[in-house]
Amino acid sequence: MNLAEFIIRIEAFNANVNIPLIRKAYEFSDRAHKGQKRLSGEPFVEHCLEVAFILAEQHMDSATIAAGLVHDVVEDTDLSLEQLRREFDDEIAELVDGVTKIGAVEYSSREELQVEYFRKMLLSMARDIRVIIIKLADRLHNMRTLSHVPPEKQQLVAQETRDIYCSLAHRFGINKVKVELEDLSLRYLHPEVYDDLTKRVRESREERQAYIETMAGPIKQALEKDNIKADIYGRAKHLDSIHRKIQIRGVSFEEIYDLFAIRIIVNTERDCYHALGILHAIWKPVADRFHDYIATPKPNGYRSLHTTVFGENNRMVEIQIRTHQMHHVAENGIAAHWLYKEGKHEMSRSDRQMVWLRDVLEWQKDMTNPSDFLEYLKIDLYSEDTFVFTPNRKLVHLPKGSTPLDFAFQIHTDIGIHCAGAKINNRLQPLSTELQSGDIVEIITNPNRNPSHDWLKLVKTSTARAKIRRWLKQSGFEQSVALGKQMIDRKLREQRLKLPPDDILQGYAEQLDRKSVEDLYAAIGNGSMSIRPLMELIQPEQEEKPAGFVNRVIDRIRGTKGIRVHGMDDMMFRFGGCCQPVPGEDIVGFITRGRGVTVHRADCASAVHLHSLFPERRIDVSWDTARGQSFVVQLKLVVEDRRNMLRDITQAIADADTNVRAAEMHSQDTTAVGKFVVEVSSLSHLNRILDKVRKVKGVLSVTRETGSDTTPA
Ligand code: MN
Repeated sequence: MNLAEFIIRIEAFNANVNIPLIRKAYEFSDRAHKGQKRLSGEPFVEHCLEVAFILAEQHMDSATIAAGLVHDVVEDTDLSLEQLRREFDDEIAELVDGVTKIGAVEYSSREELQVEYFRKMLLSMARDIRVIIIKLADRLHNMRTLSHVPPEKQQLVAQETRDIYCSLAHRFGINKVKVELEDLSLRYLHPEVYDDLTKRVRESREERQAYIETMAGPIKQALEKDNIKADIYGRAKHLDSIHRKIQIRGVSFEEIYDLFAIRIIVNTERDCYHALGILHAIWKPVADRFHDYIATPKPNGYRSLHTTVFGENNRMVEIQIRTHQMHHVAENGIAAHWLYKEGKHEMSRSDRQMVWLRDVLEWQKDMTNPSDFLEYLKIDLYSEDTFVFTPNRKLVHLPKGSTPLDFAFQIHTDIGIHCAGAKINNRLQPLSTELQSGDIVEIITNPNRNPSHDWLKLVKTSTARAKIRRWLKQSGFEQSVALGKQMIDRKLREQRLKLPPDDILQGYAEQLDRKSVEDLYAAIGNGSMSIRPLMELIQPEQEEKPAGFVNRVIDRIRGTKGIRVHGMDDMMFRFGGCCQPVPGEDIVGFITRGRGVTVHRADCASAVHLHSLFPERRIDVSWDTARGQSFVVQLKLVVEDRRNMLRDITQAIADADTNVRAAEMHSQDTTAVGKFVVEVSSLSHLNRILDKVRKVKGVLSVTRETGSDTTPA
């Protein structure tokens, strides 16, 4: 393409184009790039001309086309931005500067660098959105000529295009560019797939064309009868979208029913609905496949009616109906704003895409994890949106698969943070419910409710995820998790034990009433739960005493003398916290790892359990008490809740010649439950104490308290 040809062609897109400016920009670029060649062997200015042409095709204004012609001057020649500014004006210089800055950041497959890249790109776009439109045109021509680039580099460029430029083109609704970029990426990332699909689409083209004719005829006739002018096209889906459908649905090429679609373009919005009515009268519509994107446009501004009908021979055919204006926006997205707007470059602040851009710029400040940020940018590229309503019928866009929790965070961060439940269409539903388009969602909040780690699994949008993460971080949750984990690791090391595998740990967490392992760590880390119950689960044969004031007392005062372990001298032993045996009772011992022998009452439930599990660890033990040695026993009393009860019980125990080492008493309605730790020297001594206590007025029962169950004394 030479300049004369270029000018003739761009005038077809924009009759008001500033020809002298375009000429000047071309000549400036041609001079600056003199002698430079592309890898294809063409003079460099040819690339500039192609980029400018892609911009003209999108009906961009003269300044943008001129900037497209000189977009590589600062980056690739000796000329400076200042020279460019003097030669042209601030507007063109700023556009070129924005494009140059994006080019100066090297793309990397490393996520953290990708984020930096994105950030720079977004910042330059925020100043003038036309920068990204030029950059996309530049990338499109580079992708078209990618075959001249060495193969290793092809992969990287194609991946970058796929990861970043396709997302951006989609976000800004520049569908025509997006579709071509996706297909070109596919060609280099999966050449076999690309070749195979190209062949199949080509082979089926004639048959497809013939089929569309069978439907286009009747549609045209019916519309003409009602005086509606319409252009009717058949079109194949682009290769990348066919590839995705094959992958997502796990079907073969032949099985894709919506391989091609019919597009009807009419003059007015009213004609769109009129045409829809006519279509549905001729062919039966497929249930659930009608979308009114005219009434509720997609977030990127796309508007059309979509329906699928059972066409000739009962084949399903997708049909899109739109006006010429809608079609232009559907193809060019944000670039469509410059049509008919020559000379006016300010975007309206309320434009959806600008709102999105501002959101992204705000969020990227908080996103320290690169993958979160990239995810945020890509999230809804390959998923359809869901449209739901607030109780006041305000429309909310969410990615498909979103939950009420996503909705809550979308409405307001505080509503998300304190979300306690959700009503969907007036019925209470779990927070994990997947929202469907058309749902009316009401969030119930409670100031005492706060995010937990499980919420991360309930949300789909990365904005909600980022807000939850931020809250967890600020509330110290993460530190508690880390601290709890450290405490457990230390304890396990002390006892030469290993951390159980994840699935086992998850089971333990649930037994301890925590939803996840992380919640368990956090509870231990922030002190709301003792480490002991977890250790008991990890090492059940070393029964530890349940925590509690009385048990701590027993732990401290129960001696480590008075037992002989048969067949061994000086064997270390301890009493099982569960049964507190006293001399005179039958006892057994169990060898435990690293802690010598644990002594239980022979009829203790733990002992019976241990014996069934580890019969080989059982060992005979007998009493070997010294004179005056005492043992502590815990008693559980249920009594009438009356005045002086505690005093009377204590007195009765004292009358049996012993001391109360600890006591707790709790009222329960008209009765009270008390725990008493007493010192006894033998079983007969214990029985004497029990007799005395039972005689106290208002004592309903006295039992010997054991850790795991209660055995009548
Ligand atoms: Mn370029």
